[in-house]
Amino acid sequence: QDPVLAIVGRPNVGKSTLVNRILGRREAVVEDTPGVTRDRVQYTADWNGRNFTLVDTGGWERDARGIHLRVAEQAEIAVEMADVVLLVVDAVVGITASDEAIVRMLRKAGKPVVLVGNKVDDIVQEADNASLWGLGLGEPYPVSAVHGRGVADMLDHVMDVL
Ligand code: GDP
Ligand code: MG
Repeated sequence: QDPVLAIVGRPNVGKSTLVNRILGRREAVVEDTPGVTRDRVQYTADWNGRNFTLVDTGGWERDARGIHLRVAEQAEIAVEMADVVLLVVDAVVGITASDEAIVRMLRKAGKPVVLVGNKVDDIVQEADNASLWGLGLGEPYPVSAVHGRGVADMLDHVMDVL
């Protein structure tokens, strides 16, 4: 049984783009419309010769209702299944109330969390990434899921935790 890495975060932070980057192919659906990945979607991935199961989730939101509540529940199930959780935050937007609510949910779950500041396309956004220390989850790993920047360093760290 491969270890499980679950990717969570609010809608539109770039979770599915990051999944595609890690897989090295386009499989997870990326949309400009928030909340496109409805359920948990599992993939087999590998990094440096180690296999793991990657679970993409829909966006977890605070005070979710209707379909959004279902999506949030699926994300919570993914967290329960996970050995390690990758929390993706949009570094450029910065910390939102939903990000803080996800952190509380993850604290209750008690799983190891690696914090990722996405959309750091350029050195210019490194300062935005540094603001994510404010979530209290330790070092935020800056990545650009679109360009691949920082992803290798982040995955090396994930493999140390997984
Ligand atoms: P999800 O809802 O968290 O799965 O987000 P998606 O992967 O569907 O991406 C949402 C939007 O953010 C899309 O328009 C992506 O192209 C964009 N996006 C994702 N990653 C990056 C990134 O690293 N940099 C920039 N500039 N945009 C990104
Ligand atoms: Mg998605």
